[in-house]
Amino acid sequence: MKIKSGLAFHCYDGKLYEFVYNYDERVEWIKISKRQEEQELSLRLLKMIPLKLVPGREDKEYQTLINASEIVRKTGKACAKAWERYKEVWKSCSESWVIYGEAGKALDEARKVSKKIVKVGEVCGKTREARNKAWGNYGRAWEAYNNKWGTKIVSLHEELCPNCPWNGQTIFPS
Ligand SMILES: [Zn+2]
Repeated sequence: MKIKSGLAFHCYDGKLYEFVYNYDERVEWIKISKRQEEQELSLRLLKMIPLKLVPGREDKEYQTLINASEIVRKTGKACAKAWERYKEVWKSCSESWVIYGEAGKALDEARKVSKKIVKVGEVCGKTREARNKAWGNYGRAWEAYNNKWGTKIVSLHEELCPNCPWNGQTIFPS
């Protein structure tokens, strides 16, 4: 079975390797967001590092990194969901106010929805806080893993990615 999540080379330009949560999503994203002439190279170089080759895969730093990335994903989802809900109630609120302005009948409804906005806004804030915290944890986990195993991965890259245009900063050297 092909691995879908883990460390990968050339996931984002500007970085030699990163943690990829979902390989397929990343491929889709490259297809959507990159210019035609960049796509081919990006797709060719994007490579999941086989788990058995990942340095420190049994270390607690690596486990912490995996867990932190999972939480980043979850909190990001919750945050996006709360934001959608916020936009929804905001829309129904402004609609109510329009009706109120026209007919003077929807005042209660508008007030009710206004209260809902405050509530959903609070949920939004909380999920955002959780997401930011998760990113902070992820950043620290990443640093810990990287400090310990970064140079190993750089040499692994030389082995697994021959004839690579990566110059330490980009795969698109001009
Ligand atoms: Zn490479």
